[in-house]
Amino acid sequence: MALIVQKYGGTSVGNPERIKNVAARVTKYRQQGDQVVVVVSAMSGVTDNLIKLAKAIMPLPSEREMDMLLATGEQTTIALTAMALHALDIDAVSLTGAQAGIVTDGVHTKAKIQNITPKQVHALLDSGKVVIVAGFQGQTAEGQITTLGRGGSDLTAIALAAALKADLCQIYTDVDGVYTADPRIVPGARKLNEISYDEMLELASLGAKVMQSRSVEFAKKFGVVFEVRSSLNDNPGTIVKEETESMEDVVIRGVSLDKNQAKVTIVGVPDKPGVAARIFKGLADAAINVDMIVQNVSRNTESPSTDLSFTVDKPDLAKAGKVIETLKAEIAFREANTDENIAKLSIVGVGMRSHSGVAAKVFETLAAESVNIEMISTSEIKISVIIALAKGEQAMKAVHQVFIG
Ligand code: ADP
Ligand code: ASP
Ligand code: MG
Repeated sequence: MALIVQKYGGTSVGNPERIKNVAARVTKYRQQGDQVVVVVSAMSGVTDNLIKLAKAIMPLPSEREMDMLLATGEQTTIALTAMALHALDIDAVSLTGAQAGIVTDGVHTKAKIQNITPKQVHALLDSGKVVIVAGFQGQTAEGQITTLGRGGSDLTAIALAAALKADLCQIYTDVDGVYTADPRIVPGARKLNEISYDEMLELASLGAKVMQSRSVEFAKKFGVVFEVRSSLNDNPGTIVKEETESMEDVVIRGVSLDKNQAKVTIVGVPDKPGVAARIFKGLADAAINVDMIVQNVSRNTESPSTDLSFTVDKPDLAKAGKVIETLKAEIAFREANTDENIAKLSIVGVGMRSHSGVAAKVFETLAAESVNIEMISTSEIKISVIIALAKGEQAMKAVHQVFIG
């Protein structure tokens, strides 16, 4: 008998038929005698629709009310999934994130899990029930409903697997596992049998939305080994785990494209100590994550000024623009521009540590495709470039072809 946490994403619960399929799969494990905790997402498209509804009311809705609204998506699915299990004569009960004991901080729309006290989950499992938990949501210590950021059901599943000390954690989705690139964009992408936490983390935070990046961070921290696999068949998936020696033999594990980035350029920023600190403190206070930053060499030595560019997630662009405008009087920059038509292309692999020449090959490949590089950033195991959105997929295919085939 094993304790298994299974997470089903939006497409896997996208309609009543799919929900019945989930119930059938859960039943198979249950009838083997396993204890099963099922984490579900909102049905596909539901969260996006709720966001659209909110934006139709006002462009920058209160984040507390957004969480109140978005949490309803997962609440629909838990009840329907419990019903689908009841229809198969399986004892099952649904719980909201709060009922499952998921306590978060108060940063609405991207709350962090602070602790989990799954007392109720344990008690229900012990009484022979399948427990269905709403993904993506939690509650502050003060009782406010929060959500964990887009794709946050992955985090719910991994965190519950850690808290429950589950024997297995399975992330069911609409592809057979983690591929060398998004198989919807790169038809030649190959499924990986295994991948290290660090590589998965880089791929996820750089745009491969197959796993929410924070969930991978959490898995790494707590040593949760998990499998990404398809809810539509029984093929073995991809195991995500600690790096092993043989993993370094492969130079490039995967390529990702993040189209969800936007660039802000502040022109004519006085080049003196404290200015960058003021700008990025303002953004941090507004809970805006800044990714790449590039500062140009100063012009004009009399009163030196420079241009400063940085990238943020597209949904944060309006908020970032507001923060920058409020600093205009204080900092006296000339103007601020935003550009939504960019994408970040990244190449990831732990093998880069021991193989040189990867960057040169990436730049050559992009040059051959006439793709201009606007920003570059690297770490030990990745190279990222900002390029024009319109050339993103073409560049991704070319880089995949050169490094992976
Ligand atoms: P779910 O709703 O199950 O959470 P998501 O839509 O969030 O599923 O993630 C699955 C999708 O991630 C796939 O359909 C695929 O298009 C995309 N994807 C992006 N990069 C990758 C990759 N490297 N490997 C597999 N899938 C990827
Ligand atoms: N429903 C949420 C979203 O669409 C959470 C998730 O699917 O994991 O982002
Ligand atoms: Mg997802």
